[in-house]
Amino acid sequence: MSTLEIRDLQVSVKLPDGELKPILAGVDLTIKSGETHAIMGPNGSGKSTLAYSIAGHPKYEITGGSVTLDGQDVLALTVDERARAGLFLAMQYPVEVPGVSVANFLRTAKTAIDGEAPKLRTWAGELRGAMEKLQMDPAFAQRNVNEGFSGGEKKRHEIMQLELLKPKMAILDETDSGLDIDALQVVSEGVNRVRATGETGFLLITHYTRILRYIKPDFVHVFVGGRIVEEGGPELGERLEAEGYKKFVHA
Ligand code: ADP
Ligand code: MG
Ligand code: MG
Repeated sequence: MSTLEIRDLQVSVKLPDGELKPILAGVDLTIKSGETHAIMGPNGSGKSTLAYSIAGHPKYEITGGSVTLDGQDVLALTVDERARAGLFLAMQYPVEVPGVSVANFLRTAKTAIDGEAPKLRTWAGELRGAMEKLQMDPAFAQRNVNEGFSGGEKKRHEIMQLELLKPKMAILDETDSGLDIDALQVVSEGVNRVRATGETGFLLITHYTRILRYIKPDFVHVFVGGRIVEEGGPELGERLEAEGYKKFVHA
């Protein structure tokens, strides 16, 4: 059982001229393994900033508050150490890794996280199994990470990482954006498989409510202006679907 605790988190983005622009205005959130939390908010509300801050992106400066994973100070860790501690971030815009194949990338990541290389024989099978479940062509494993990937391929690749790396906490930033309905279904099934193990906590960041039809959150948090302005269960997601964010923006 793992717990991610975010307390009064305040974050500014570093602008090119060195100035700090405050984005997160005190975020409080607790996620336990086995739970799925949805963060829903309009564009520009700071959702990606929250994800990047937890993952340790250098562009974001923590100006207050804390993030701990099972009591360990996440903010004091390097990006690599955060991954090894069990944090996983699927980015809204995944980056290309030229010259590194999907197979090598996943094996390297698995080795870094486990502290030892996966056994060759079982690993090949695991990799193949994960790809089959996500309805991916085996040839995909030899392609360079994110190079020329379609939107759907990028997201499937991230869910593949999720299935193989088995993180304690997974932050999925707009995993639904740019997916057609078939890809959305395949990706959601992947998330639900990992979820069913009960060993991973999920923070599902989304702009649209449609992914919540496939992945039913336990908790919904409405995110506006760099903070959580309303919290509830799945019914809050349905309310947003009907009413939009207007009411909260002016709240
Ligand atoms: P969301 O993911 O909810 O759409 P973001 O976290 O991407 O929101 O952005 C929140 C706010 O911070 C926006 O006003 C955005 O323009 C600003 N912002 C985020 N990253 C940067 C950056 N690197 N440089 C300048 N402004 C940024
Ligand atoms: Mg955005
Ligand atoms: Mg975003």
